[in-house]
Amino acid sequence: MSRVAGFTTTIPVEVLFASGATPCDLNNVFVTHPDPIHYVARAEKDGFPKNMCNWIKGLYGVVRESAIDTVITVMEGDCSNTRALAEILSYRGVRIVPFSFPFDRERESLAREIDKLMHTFGVDPTMLASVDAGLRAVRESLALIDRMTWEDRVVTGEENHLWQLRASDMEGDYEQYGKAAKGFIEEARHRGPIRGIPLGYVGVPPINPDLYAFVEGLGCHVIYNEVQRQFSLPFSSDDIIERYRLYTYPYGIFARLTDIRQEIDRRGIRGVIHYVQAFCYRVVEDIILKETLGVPVITIEGDLPKPLDTRTKLRLEAFIEMLKERADGDD
Ligand code: SF4
Repeated sequence: MSRVAGFTTTIPVEVLFASGATPCDLNNVFVTHPDPIHYVARAEKDGFPKNMCNWIKGLYGVVRESAIDTVITVMEGDCSNTRALAEILSYRGVRIVPFSFPFDRERESLAREIDKLMHTFGVDPTMLASVDAGLRAVRESLALIDRMTWEDRVVTGEENHLWQLRASDMEGDYEQYGKAAKGFIEEARHRGPIRGIPLGYVGVPPINPDLYAFVEGLGCHVIYNEVQRQFSLPFSSDDIIERYRLYTYPYGIFARLTDIRQEIDRRGIRGVIHYVQAFCYRVVEDIILKETLGVPVITIEGDLPKPLDTRTKLRLEAFIEMLKERADGDD
């Protein structure tokens, strides 16, 4: 059996596949578990404070309850808490492999980071090339699923969210993931279009499992999932360094804004849900997003991995009602 390598956010997964390791995005294990709260409880039992982001606690809980003994931690370009997570995991005996996306998006620095990762996992350029074409083919299928969401309107926002979210590790087997994506595309081709107000979702993926079902049940269709789409590496390039340089998520709000604005226009989005996580430094980005997107934005905050609370549901209902009134006024 190949060795599992965990990671805290999207990294150049090509390197792990080329090394023969099985990539595992710890976030996906946490949030798709039938009882994710138990991971949070595990972290708190070990001393993590209540007033800390529950994603971080979830990642810690996943590692502690699994046999994962190697974790790639993204020290720059993701979360301000990762350093502390890396330290406590290291203290617990987990091998930590640091990786950084340079904030200035500088090519040479990124190339050095990818080289270091290749060296750590014993991968040379020939090994990398042997998986590259296969991975790019899977990403093309994911791009088609995204297009079928906003152009053909035959894929729900939740399906779109899950396909792209899982692109970070392709569930540990990119060939199988690619086959499953192709099967999904074939099935979805025969559906009728989804009606509803086209919405965008921006921010880190939601910790609440019912968000998409709730919003789409109110007559909306989420046709853009910003960060999840980035996890699927939508900017195709033959060059791995360029691919991860064009990827917007690690390079700050201004890199992301360009992409968000472009997709709002291209997809005809009428309103945006901005999700923020309790105790996350990214809350500050909300100020910039609200002032610059040019469409109505609602900001919702999640905390624990459980269904939406009543207050958030009421706020979403009022927001969607307002969008419907605006749409009627435009007709
Ligand atoms: S939600 Fe924010 S604080 Fe939590 S893990 Fe993600 S980036 Fe870090």
